Order: sequence, then C-alpha cells, then structure tokens
Amino acid sequence: MTQLGFYIDQARCIGCEACVIACKDKNDNPVGVNFRRVYSFEEGSFTEDKNGSFIQNIQSYFLSISCNHCDEPKCVENCPTTAMFKREEDGVVVVDQDKCVGCRYCEWNCPYGAPQYNEELGKMTKCDLCIDLLEKGERPACEGACPVRAIEIGPIDELRAKYGNVSEVKGLPTASITKPNLVINTHKDASE
Ligand code: SF4
Ligand code: SF4
Repeated sequence: MTQLGFYIDQARCIGCEACVIACKDKNDNPVGVNFRRVYSFEEGSFTEDKNGSFIQNIQSYFLSISCNHCDEPKCVENCPTTAMFKREEDGVVVVDQDKCVGCRYCEWNCPYGAPQYNEELGKMTKCDLCIDLLEKGERPACEGACPVRAIEIGPIDELRAKYGNVSEVKGLPTASITKPNLVINTHKDASE
C-alpha cells in the first residue's frame, strides 16, 4: 500500500483560508461543516519600559489542517458500525454513508476534530483527500487553491524524504495518539 498524506508548510501559510473555501466548494458543504480548517494562534503582549516605550513579544502563526488519514485512526477504532474505515490501497480514511448511523463517536475520538457532522444528512462526513480528483489525475482542491503553495499531497514516504518527519507543533495533540500521516514545516513561533 502507498499511504497518502499531507505536507503543510506552516512557515509559508498566510492564513488566507483559500484552502478552506476550495474544500467547502468542492464538497458542497453547508455552513459549519469544514473538512479543512485554518487555526490562528496568537500569544504574547506589549510591555512598557522605563522610558515609556512599548516592547512587544507577540508570536503569531496559522495552521491549516484537515484529516491526517492516520496510521492508528481512533475514528476507525471507535466506530461501532465499521462505517469509518481505512482504504487498503492508499490508507485514506473514509466514511461509508450507507453504514453511518450518525452517532458521532468518531468525532469525539479524533484528537484533530476532523470528522464533521452533517445535520442535513444525519451522517458524518470528512476529508477524503479528493480521491475522485486524484483518480482522474487532477490535484486535490486545497492544494490547488493555496496561493503560496503551502499544501502538498502525495505518498507520505516521499513527503517525509523531502521535508522531514515533524508532525506535531504547538497547538496540536501529540502524534503518538493516532500516528498522523502529516509532515509540517514548523513556523518559527510554533516550535514546542
Ligand atoms: S485525523 Fe481524526 S478522523 Fe482523520 S484518520 Fe486521524 S483520527 Fe481519524
Ligand atoms: S458517526 Fe458514523 S462513522 Fe462516526 S462512529 Fe458513528 S457510525 Fe461510525
């Protein structure tokens, strides 16, 4: 099996959310359902020195994330109906809509908040890595929309060979929980 995954260049991401919009449009998702999300982190403050000048130590960065198609997906382990499963051919984690009963156990067990409940359908939905586009030789929506080329999708072995193996940054859960297929080029302010 060739496991697919994501490379996210967090150092390059400008937080424009073009990836979020492209994903939403491609999947025709309703308000509140976001397979891809961009989180904004800000910390630090301004302090006044003895001369009345303000000094800042503000740190600010973004993180674009969806499902990481994990090696040990807690969503799959905790689905009572086997609706959530990992494809043998490429390791992509998908939901069988015919089997999903909308119990949301997968959502509660995913440390990344990836499964997205669709109220209209009464079912869980999620990122499927745009496998329909990949099968046609096209690129996934988020990757194609990013104006600064901060997202790359491909075989995770190749992504790790090119970019390293960092898969957790400040603000993300430890990678030991699910072993995500994710490589991040960490923003300088997001190092642990
Ligand atoms: S990120 Fe969450 S939903 Fe995606 S495979 Fe991992 S545990 Fe499952
Ligand atoms: S909501 Fe659907 S996919 Fe998620 S655990 Fe329940 S049955 Fe499985």
